[in-house]
Amino acid sequence: MKAMILPHLGPLHEGESRLVLTEFPVPEPKENEILVRVSACGVCHTELDEIEGRTPPPALPVIPGHQIIGRVEVVGANVSLFQVNDRVGIGWIYSSCGKCHYCLSGNDNLCPHFLATGRDVNGGYAEYITVPAGSAHAVPEIFSDAEAAPLLCAGAIGYRSLRLTGLQNGQTLGLTGFGASAHIVLQMAQHLFPDSPVFVFARNEAERKFARELGAVWAGDTEDQPPQKIDCIIDTTPAWKPILSALTNLRPAGRLVINAIRKEEKDKQQLLKLDYPDHLWLEKEIKSVANVSRTDIHEFLQLAAAIPLRAETQQFRLDDANSALNELKARKIRGAKVLIISN
Ligand SMILES: [Zn+2]
Ligand SMILES: [Zn+2]
Repeated sequence: MKAMILPHLGPLHEGESRLVLTEFPVPEPKENEILVRVSACGVCHTELDEIEGRTPPPALPVIPGHQIIGRVEVVGANVSLFQVNDRVGIGWIYSSCGKCHYCLSGNDNLCPHFLATGRDVNGGYAEYITVPAGSAHAVPEIFSDAEAAPLLCAGAIGYRSLRLTGLQNGQTLGLTGFGASAHIVLQMAQHLFPDSPVFVFARNEAERKFARELGAVWAGDTEDQPPQKIDCIIDTTPAWKPILSALTNLRPAGRLVINAIRKEEKDKQQLLKLDYPDHLWLEKEIKSVANVSRTDIHEFLQLAAAIPLRAETQQFRLDDANSALNELKARKIRGAKVLIISN
């Protein structure tokens, strides 16, 4: 099969190609696994974190990709959840221990033993993947393969982030950064909290325009002052400066939820400007989001179909994955980038 593999870690400079198109053997499913023929795989900022070593794969080469849509080609001997030709989605959690406190409470994303798709095991930048059947999800009919792919990470993690804000209908919501995840959160928030105005902070005007088109009541630059203080803010940027701005803009007892697996080091010195009375006092809270549990994906896919949510996608061929990653690094973002692998 064809696969885009990551042979070495290192910084991704402009125009560089870190992934290499390679012939790889088609994996064989074990008795509790399914073999999936991949049709589409979303491109996530976490791939940049892997490539550049901020969340390094334990062994190389590895096939990245954890927003996978495909059809079941072979079922293992002990699999009853799926049949051949079923359409399935695969997200970041490839497997977890199933026994620890976190697994038993539905937070398998916090399991110390979980394996991540496309980092700890091979992922979806390939024509085939095997996965434990219990880690695959049925995908609602109304979404095409390309539309469904970004729901598995960008969308589902947006769902978890929104849940972790504790937002009540009528309270104000802020979104810092407006990429793949935030444009889905905005639509979800409008459905779940119809009386909650949404304020968007984004570096470039294209993102701000897109946010207004989708119904944000206000969109400004990351350091602009919104017309009012905000109850909950979700940050999806890789930087630190927006964290300080977001804390300034929070109401007393407001909560900032940081939806990022890693932050870049570049502007970390901004944190020295942290001012206790301005940024933290008055019972402001900061909470991070650690990827996404299987329950989040399951619940979110049902919600996404009910809204119905539209993920705007920009499509690339598998062998053009490096272009998608370069654009992501340069923050040329409108909606979600998706590799189209087969029909
Ligand atoms: Zn992701
Ligand atoms: Zn566990």
